[in-house]
Amino acid sequence: MHKASCHCGKVALELDGDLSQANECNCSHCSRKGYLLVFLPRETVTFRSPPEDLPAYRFNRHVINHHFCPDCGCAPFSMGKGPDGREMVAVNLRCVEGIDLEAVKRVPVDGRSF
Ligand SMILES: [Zn+2]
Repeated sequence: MHKASCHCGKVALELDGDLSQANECNCSHCSRKGYLLVFLPRETVTFRSPPEDLPAYRFNRHVINHHFCPDCGCAPFSMGKGPDGREMVAVNLRCVEGIDLEAVKRVPVDGRSF
């Protein structure tokens, strides 16, 4: 199990999954936030408090909720549906505790061109 959190600790989650590689997207939103995202099924992530209670930023087609902490501003995860309709959580590896980011393989995603 891995723990992820915002800076102040208000947002905290536990997750189980392969964190050896992450998507690094070059779109206007991801590049500004520096997201390194791993996509996990909703049921493999445990939230300390309901994610629906957190504020979320939406843009473009408004289908993904980019949640953030209302106090410290960190964005540990986003939520949306996969192509098959399954609820997915995109965890920002930058907010995972104790992870060696240098060892994470970065998979470039050309979101800017979409
Ligand atoms: Zn916070």
